[in-house]
Amino acid sequence: MTYDVLNPATEKVIRTIELASQDDADAAIARAAKAFETWRDVTPADRGRLLRRFADAVDADLENLAALEVENAGHTIGNARWEAGNVRDVLTYYSAAPERLFGKQIPVAGGIDVTFQEPLGVVGVIVPWNFPMPIAGWGFAPALAAGNTVVLKPAELTPLTAIRLGELALEAGLPPGVFEVVPGKGTVVGNRFVTHSAVRKVVFTGSTTVGKQIMAGCADQVKRVTLELGGKSANIVFADADLEKAAAQAPYGVFDNAGQDCCARSRILVERSAYDRFLELLEPAVKNFKVGDPSDPATEMGPLISAGQREQVASYVENPAFQGTAPSGPGFWFPPTVLAPASERAVREEIFGPVVAVIPFADEADALRIANDSEYGLSGSIWTRDVGRALRVSRGVEAGNLSVNSNSSVRYSTPFGGYKQSGLGRELGPDALAAFTETKNIFISTED
Ligand code: NAD
Repeated sequence: MTYDVLNPATEKVIRTIELASQDDADAAIARAAKAFETWRDVTPADRGRLLRRFADAVDADLENLAALEVENAGHTIGNARWEAGNVRDVLTYYSAAPERLFGKQIPVAGGIDVTFQEPLGVVGVIVPWNFPMPIAGWGFAPALAAGNTVVLKPAELTPLTAIRLGELALEAGLPPGVFEVVPGKGTVVGNRFVTHSAVRKVVFTGSTTVGKQIMAGCADQVKRVTLELGGKSANIVFADADLEKAAAQAPYGVFDNAGQDCCARSRILVERSAYDRFLELLEPAVKNFKVGDPSDPATEMGPLISAGQREQVASYVENPAFQGTAPSGPGFWFPPTVLAPASERAVREEIFGPVVAVIPFADEADALRIANDSEYGLSGSIWTRDVGRALRVSRGVEAGNLSVNSNSSVRYSTPFGGYKQSGLGRELGPDALAAFTETKNIFISTED
């Protein structure tokens, strides 16, 4: 079975790829299981060295990987370069891990007690279409560093950079079978990762609906699972904030990647006394947001990923307060859009497009009530000049990744993940290895 991969900015077919069948998935899992027998015993220094070579190969191919993502996902060239660089950086960061995968020595009576962090086996990584490169790397880099082998399934819509990363791993010297890229359907290949007993863990990023199915499926084998799901994050702006800066940055916090970002700050909560002024400042920032050819370095936002996604996004937009511009003609374009007021549906559901709701609040308690009135809890921002309030509100928001006077959520050296239905577990940062290992405890008697 084949699949025509489209350029979302032109609607033209850019490549036709072969989709893996269940038998193909089984063969890839078998290769990864076989490779695990030797990969787990590669010395820590050599495993680290191989991951650094993989990082170097990604770096040498950065422009090509970025160009592939511009073509396949409509990402702006600036974002796509950052994304390829993020894969390199995550590989480099975790290349230090094999030699630092410490256990503990625990005081006990009658002997000594030590723990080991042992790899799980084959890890299945299921990736969505919104950030094909970084999300893949956040799964495979720590998994490989901990001594696991990986089978990776890219999204149907965006397989090209994952296929290239698989080639680069081999060129860098990773043994065959250690990192297998298996393009195919979620219901075939992704589901096989869930049901196949040789796959010991599934790392899934995507919709909350599918994430729940994956979790339920994994329960059958008590399979380990990490989930990164949807979001409806709040950008909370207090009247004492630098309003000019908060308003100038707000579009980047929600319209980046055309809003197809699980961390998108798609609800802007503004203290009532500053509400009118904030909207006045936001309007030119939205109208001047540069939407167009993603390969132009000046472009700030490209198209949506598909016709279906555009239709879905459009269904949330009625009587917008104001909108930016977008090209007409071929391509899945949608203009940056501000809803004020917004419908209950637009306020609650993850739109996954360039649409933001601006909502007034009365005071700190009211801001927290509105921010937490969501089944999601992934990220969010707090804009204020009062440091005490910044900390109080940050501690009060039920979300995994908060920023103060900033809209950035992701750094490879800090943990990332969601509260409530935004996910389960954490990726990135110093502790990610724990999610790819089992702790083994060994007691050695010292008695005669
Ligand atoms: P999805 O959850 O359908 O797909 C994500 C990945 O899971 C893809 O690789 C897909 O092939 C695979 N998959 C699908 N069904 C599967 C199954 N039954 N078993 C195993 N794997 C399966 O998400 P999508 O279609 O890419 O997007 C739909 C919506 O999900 C979006 O509109 C958005 O709201 C949300 N989404 C969220 C994120 C995020 O990072 N939080 C990312 C992408 C999409």
